[in-house]
Amino acid sequence: MLGLMQDQPLLISSLIDFAEKHHGEGEIVSRRVEGDLHRYHWRDVAKRARQAANALDAMGLKFSDRVATLAWNGYRHLELYFGVSGSGRVLHTINPRLHPDQIAWIANHAEDQVLCFDLTFLPLVQAVHARCPGIREFVALCDSGKLPQDSGVPNLVAYEDWIGGQPGTYAWPQFDENSASSMCYTSGTTGNPKAALYSHRSTILHAYAAALPDVMCLSARDSVLPVVPMFHVNAWGIPYSAALTGCKLVFPGPAMDGKSIYELIESEKVSYAAGVPTVWQMLLGHMKPGGLRFSTLKRTVIGGSACPPAMINAFREDYGVEVLHAWGMTEMSPLGTLCTLKNKDLEKSPEEQMRIRLKQGRAIFGVDMKIVGEDGKELPWDGKASGDLYVRGPWVVREYFKGEGGSPLVDGWFPTGDVATIDADGYMQITDRSKDVIKSGGEWISSIDVENIAVAHPAVAMAACVGMKHPKWDERPIVAVVRKPGAEVTREELIKFYEGKTAKWQIPDDVVFVDAIPIGATGKMLKTRLREMLKDYKLPNT
Ligand code: AMP
Repeated sequence: MLGLMQDQPLLISSLIDFAEKHHGEGEIVSRRVEGDLHRYHWRDVAKRARQAANALDAMGLKFSDRVATLAWNGYRHLELYFGVSGSGRVLHTINPRLHPDQIAWIANHAEDQVLCFDLTFLPLVQAVHARCPGIREFVALCDSGKLPQDSGVPNLVAYEDWIGGQPGTYAWPQFDENSASSMCYTSGTTGNPKAALYSHRSTILHAYAAALPDVMCLSARDSVLPVVPMFHVNAWGIPYSAALTGCKLVFPGPAMDGKSIYELIESEKVSYAAGVPTVWQMLLGHMKPGGLRFSTLKRTVIGGSACPPAMINAFREDYGVEVLHAWGMTEMSPLGTLCTLKNKDLEKSPEEQMRIRLKQGRAIFGVDMKIVGEDGKELPWDGKASGDLYVRGPWVVREYFKGEGGSPLVDGWFPTGDVATIDADGYMQITDRSKDVIKSGGEWISSIDVENIAVAHPAVAMAACVGMKHPKWDERPIVAVVRKPGAEVTREELIKFYEGKTAKWQIPDDVVFVDAIPIGATGKMLKTRLREMLKDYKLPNT
């Protein structure tokens, strides 16, 4: 017997309809490429998303055709989120930090037909357009009359002209909720990048889950600043959850330095912000010397890389801001776990609470997870056993776009490539990427633990730990360190700093001072590149 409830597909167009109807007056504030602040409301997003949908119809774009973006977090990008997917096309957000060769490869692989870009990225478009013959139209996200002269880019139109003549009415089509809505290529540390292809259903379920109180806790009373980019896993789904809750959205555009972010938080009364640790490092670095305070910021969600304890402490103790540690990946839309405490944890000592907050958190309803050992057997949830982390759920990939790489699943589970422990309360902690973990004398050393201790030193700006071949121990950890400007610390002082903070055999054998640690397109440290930089390095006493 089937239930007798109405059968309505879960479609992204319903989110923007809802935001317009119930939160039409809710504000969207964006720092533009031009530097000024643009303000309008959810009802304007809805109308202009419909105009964009009409513009795609006018071009003759068909169902599931791909529309690419190379854009910062901003209002026009938001309109495309709803206009492209809502009308049945697939929004392909491209990471502008990738190399032009990769961008051209990705655009061709995705078979993009339109490319919408912020003018900041004109040089990138100039570098790739001739190699992307499938792109029929290039849309510069700028005002009418602001198109650059002699750009050399064919079929170039200003966004405001592109949507300008189109009606603000549009009947959103109804279709199967499992239809593709957007896509994002993985960072691709090995081989060519592969795309996660999200569906309307997976996106809406993820948007519901992300807004839950024990997840991002979003509401119509929040002013939300996603610093996490809309070109990487849909800014953790915040644009969708924002429409679903009607919260105010504040977009930083290209200005992601500490000063600009701080000013935006204060001027727009931001209550909630989301980003990767490197961005928050810059924010705290800006605030500390001037003794600046937050007047409205209450919570910040930090993910994408392990959040160092020193950062959680600084936010909580120095600024009274709750830090929510989150974990996920492109293949998971991206949210998997979030670290919010349980009621019983609130009775624990501050030190014990801190130990929990450092973990990546508990699974969100919709994400099932397990850890398995080298023999493929499931490991206990005791907070000690560490194994390969597997996940499954309605917003986890089943396969990559065009079947690249074959089925990634193992018995229906997606192998994340992360190594983790899970404790009896279900708090998961990432100990490493499987390829970054260091094996010394048959024991595993977590590179994250080694890095966290280094960055707790006041003179250290950034640290990356890698394993080096050792004749006796197989591998030994060393730590590459970037010093804070003007700060001094010696190799010996830093090694001494580890004493008492970790087991003796886990203390790195050496410290290598570097000017910079290579960072990939999504803000994560590129250990492969670091290993190349250190290829002539020799461990002391070997
Ligand atoms: P991406 O698909 O580019 O978003 O990268 C996903 C990967 O980032 C995960 O598989 C983890 O290795 C890493 N990651 C994401 N969040 C965290 C976190 N909170 N702590 C440690 N690693 C993380």
